[in-house]
This record gives sequence, C-alpha cells and structure tokens, in this order.
Amino acid sequence: MANDSLRRLIAELKTFLAAQGEDEFISPAAPLRAAGAVSKGEPTGKPLPKMPEGETLTVEFPKAVSPQSAFKNPASQLTEPPLPAPVVAAPEPARVIPSEEPQMNISQKTAALAELAETIKACTRCPLGATRLNAVPGEGNVNADVMFVGEGPGFDEDRQGRPFVGRAGQLLDKMIVAMGLTREQVFIANIAKCHPMTDPLHPEKHGNDRAPNAEEIACCRKYIEKQISIICPKYVIALGGVAAKALIADAKSLGALRGKFYDLHLDSVTLPRPVKILATFHPAALLRNPGWKKDAWTDLQMVMDELGLKGARK
Ligand code: SF4
Repeated sequence: MANDSLRRLIAELKTFLAAQGEDEFISPAAPLRAAGAVSKGEPTGKPLPKMPEGETLTVEFPKAVSPQSAFKNPASQLTEPPLPAPVVAAPEPARVIPSEEPQMNISQKTAALAELAETIKACTRCPLGATRLNAVPGEGNVNADVMFVGEGPGFDEDRQGRPFVGRAGQLLDKMIVAMGLTREQVFIANIAKCHPMTDPLHPEKHGNDRAPNAEEIACCRKYIEKQISIICPKYVIALGGVAAKALIADAKSLGALRGKFYDLHLDSVTLPRPVKILATFHPAALLRNPGWKKDAWTDLQMVMDELGLKGARK
C-alpha cells in the first residue's frame, strides 16, 4: 500500500504546488506545508492533501551552498570534487647584494697583511715565482691615507725583499717628503710581487728589469687588491702606466689618465669605503726624464690639496 499511496500523495502535492505557482522551486519550508502547516498570512488556496495515516513523507532537499563557496565556483555542486588548492608560486629568494666588507682596526689590518705577505712569499702562481730571489709584498703604514703602487720589484728590491729601495725608491722618498709625509706614514707596494727579468737565467745582472706582462699581472693582481682592501687608504697613487692601467682598468696612455681622480674598483674584493686613484709618473721614468718632475709634482699636489697637507695649493 505504501508505494501507491505515496505516489498518489506526491502527485497531489505537485498539483497543489502548481496551483500555488511554486512548483518550480521547492523551498525548505515544503515539508511543513506537506504536513498541513500554513504560516500566518500565507494565501490560502486549494486545501492540502491529507497524508495517509501511518505514512511518513520524506523529501530530500539539496544541502545549502554557502554564498562564499558559490562565489568561488558558481557552477559547483557539493557532490563535485573539491577544487584543487590554488598553486602558490614559491617566493623568489631575496637577491643577495654583496655588502661592503667592514673596516678592520689596526691590529686586524696588521695581522691580515702579515698573513698575506706570508702567502705571497710562498707563491708560485706564475713563472716569476721560480726566478725571484725574494718576493716583495710591500711595506708601510697599515692605516695609511696614501698608498703608492708601482709595477714590480727591480734588482735591488729582489735582493732586499722590500719595495722601492733602489735609485727610483730614493726619488720616491723625496716625493713623499715633498708632499709633507714620511715613508712610515704611507704604504708602498707593487702590482707584481716578484722581479720580472728580461733574462731570468741571470738574476745577478744589472739592467735586467722589465715590466710584468699581462699574464703575470693577472696572476698577481689579487694580492694588491687584497692589500688595498685591507689598508683602505683614501688615495692610491699609481706610479707609471703599467700600474695605472692595471688599477684604473682603462686602456688609455698614462698621459691621458693623469690629471684626474678615478673611483677605484677592484675585481676580487669589495672596498670598505670609496677609494680614489690618481696616476702619475714612475720615479724611474722621472730619473730618465727629469723634465717630467714638474708634471709629477702637479699630480702629487692634487692629493695634497684633498688631504689638506702642508704645501697644498689651497
Ligand atoms: S709575481 Fe705574484 S703571482 Fe707570480 S709568483 Fe710572484 S707573488 Fe705569485
């Protein structure tokens, strides 16, 4: 009996709802109506069909879909599989910007330069290491404002293991004093740390000097760069065209590079603070060409002006 009665009841219910104009939408309130409940003020029409005694009508309604979930996927039904979780791109790693190295204090500079000097003395990175008598790391004030950089050791320097100690060195000492400084107040070094010779088989010969070649400079430049970064002077004075071109990274001639300051940029290290570089003549060139001393003095006065040294032009 149950099936026939139930079908009949559902048919009557549909007819009733059609008469009420609501058969296109079955609201959650329908079970109440089906049970004969009519809300206050609701229009009365055809009387509700009677439920057979002992029978229970069960009407399945779709579960409510929240506005939020419908907004996310208006076409979705709860029976559909959940949407895949949105793919969130992994954040790009922060770009690492090399920070400037912190300035060392004097004892740290002393220790770092001493350690570097030992490394240089043991170095055989280029053929000059096989023919030198002594490597010449450099010497002077580890906290100097001014650093002089030449191209490489010569005959006397090779024997003593010290920079600028021959005739050219004596002239450099005079240049330093003329600036109002002493040798003990500056740092003196070379691009190449070992003696480049025209005849490496006879290191005892005088007049056996030459400038380091490009390969030797490339091998050795990390040492002068490290020294500059440790000392971090205010000014580097490049002595001669070889040192000037190596440090200023400009193919111009010394004559074209002279007369102005450049910002020093090094390949292998980051400077703790900006350093300026100025190019002038090598003392050995001044010995050969005394007429150039006037121009060299003009160059040195540019640094004196900047540092406010005695004898500066302003
Ligand atoms: S010139 Fe420089 S790179 Fe070559 S052996 Fe000497 S220290 Fe090493």
